[in-house]
Amino acid sequence: MKGKPNKPFPLSKAQLEAVARQYPTPFYLYDETGIRQNARAIRRAFSIFPLFKEHYAVKALPNPFILQILAEEGFGADCSSLPELLLAERAGIRGEAVMFTSNETPAQEYQTALDMGAVINLDDFTHIAFLEQNARIPGLISCRYNPGPLKGGNAIIGKPEEAKYGFTREQILQAFPLLRDKGARRFALHTMVASNELNVAYHIETARILFELAVELQVKTGILLEFVNLGGGVGIPYTMEQEPLDYEYLAAGIRKAYDTIILPAGLDPLGIHTEWARVVTGPYGWLVARAIHRKHIYREYIGLDACMADLMRPALYGAYHHITIPGKEDAPCTETYDIVGSLCENNDKFAVQRHLPKIEVGESTGDFVVIHDAGAHGRAMGFNYNGKLRCGELLLGSDGSLTLIRRKETLEDYFATLPATLVPVFKTLV
Ligand SMILES: *Cc1c(COP(=O)(O)O)cnc(C)c1O
Repeated sequence: MKGKPNKPFPLSKAQLEAVARQYPTPFYLYDETGIRQNARAIRRAFSIFPLFKEHYAVKALPNPFILQILAEEGFGADCSSLPELLLAERAGIRGEAVMFTSNETPAQEYQTALDMGAVINLDDFTHIAFLEQNARIPGLISCRYNPGPLKGGNAIIGKPEEAKYGFTREQILQAFPLLRDKGARRFALHTMVASNELNVAYHIETARILFELAVELQVKTGILLEFVNLGGGVGIPYTMEQEPLDYEYLAAGIRKAYDTIILPAGLDPLGIHTEWARVVTGPYGWLVARAIHRKHIYREYIGLDACMADLMRPALYGAYHHITIPGKEDAPCTETYDIVGSLCENNDKFAVQRHLPKIEVGESTGDFVVIHDAGAHGRAMGFNYNGKLRCGELLLGSDGSLTLIRRKETLEDYFATLPATLVPVFKTLV
């Protein structure tokens, strides 16, 4: 047990009191310095390759302020929908810095991605004809490979054989020559087979599978790939027992596979691309809530002003998120609590039977409850069930400034999608 979170919450209790007076809890807080340092460490580790590009998966934290920080650090974007393409565009991420990795894609989204000059990453063989009929085959095209039984599974994403994504090996070998016949001139190969995976060997094996297929493609079809995209899925240590993945060690392992497979085949330089998200921003975001109720029945409960509509990972996957109580970081964990939200769903629990210091409750006086590692797949997965309004987002700048980068939702937001004739009725009720 390390006992301490990997990334300590960056504000003291006194600082947090001041922030909460201006921006009532709950809210997300992101740390610019941490994100930048981490982005630089990733690029440094992969600088051992002739060509490296990370495309941050926008879905994990779709806020243009964050995307702009990442763009300044040289990252591109991975998008899977029209709004995500627009977010990347707004953050100044353009052209081939954008990977469009979607599935069951509508024609209009392909067209927009093409108009933006993004790299289209096809998810299925039938999409070659679909793209040609509804838009056009671009000069640079990528295909997503599903290795099926050749690759072992992973807890969150499941077995590749059962995953809906990508082309089979045989389809890949047919797709690229067909795309060449239809006018494509530059080619890339993608895969994504894991989620939240901390095992370095697993990621190295993924790279090796892509390298071997790159060689096979060249030998059998004469197609030369410009880059391979290893996808996302690098894990973070949510629990105190886990250790962060070592970027340098991972990059060195992939480099070794590159040297033994790509170099002798004469395929150097081959670009190495990634679509990491969780590991890029996850540890640098926190959900900050306040303890407002305590309840004692068969168990001891602490009720927060946040709920699973703000962060659904614990409810959805039973995921562990570390929790600290500002001002009580070193206090003994004498209590055993279920830390819960207000949703009418019994799985609305941020923590189950968690050992924590004694927590004081109260709407404006209660202890703050900080939920760690919420900087990816956090606010983004929020929803409005039970009429819950999603919380806002704050950015702690490298200069110490605090910026509201998304406000909390309002009742007006909640009713905005009703027919226009009804909206005034609700306005009079508020
Ligand atoms: C979700 C996703 C990612 C990012 O995954 P992380 O686990 O957050 O790194 C990358 N690529 C694709 C296609 C995805 O669906």
